[in-house]
Amino acid sequence: MDDLTTRAPTVPLEAGAGPDNPPCPACGEPLFGWLADQERLGASVRRCESCGLGVVGESAGSAEALATLDRLGDQERARIVNRASLACSIGGAGWAGLEPGVHYLFTVEAVRRLVAQRDQVVRRRRWAPGPSFALTWQTLLNSVTFGHNVALAALGHDRVAAPADEPWQRRIDALASIVLAIPAAVITVPLELGGALFRSGAVIDLRFELL
Ligand SMILES: [Zn+2]
Repeated sequence: MDDLTTRAPTVPLEAGAGPDNPPCPACGEPLFGWLADQERLGASVRRCESCGLGVVGESAGSAEALATLDRLGDQERARIVNRASLACSIGGAGWAGLEPGVHYLFTVEAVRRLVAQRDQVVRRRRWAPGPSFALTWQTLLNSVTFGHNVALAALGHDRVAAPADEPWQRRIDALASIVLAIPAAVITVPLELGGALFRSGAVIDLRFELL
């Protein structure tokens, strides 16, 4: 138990722990339901109310979460798609970070807790403007398309798309992505700049150091 829960006069989050609320692999607090079964992800999504980590399906624990983090960079750096971003709060289930195959949805605080388990600290965090604008732009487009992340995938970004099932839906998606590309970009710029200003940017580069 960390000092936050011992200090708080309210009911500790641990009171909510149970089979439906397994412990967060980053900080140990219970995970709570966030998004019901998502067809494109093949599972429901839980999130930690304390550090913000999101988990698609079941977690095998912190070693697995750390291994996933390392695949986003190496043992000294990682580029995360920030679940605590403004883009995620606006997008909800349409957030572009929720792509097929993703298992852990990191936040800076979750990463801080995870790397602390191997005696590392987050030495630097830096907003990644290009990828952040792209992700927020795609999140806005996802709210008007049947499929998910179709525009970025078409543009050759390394995001995983989930195209719509029906050909007519895919045609509408292609058309909507073209017609709304510029209006969405016009909204994206101030939105994402605001997110970055309040340390809620969409994509963050992190640098770790051993204690
Ligand atoms: Zn947590």
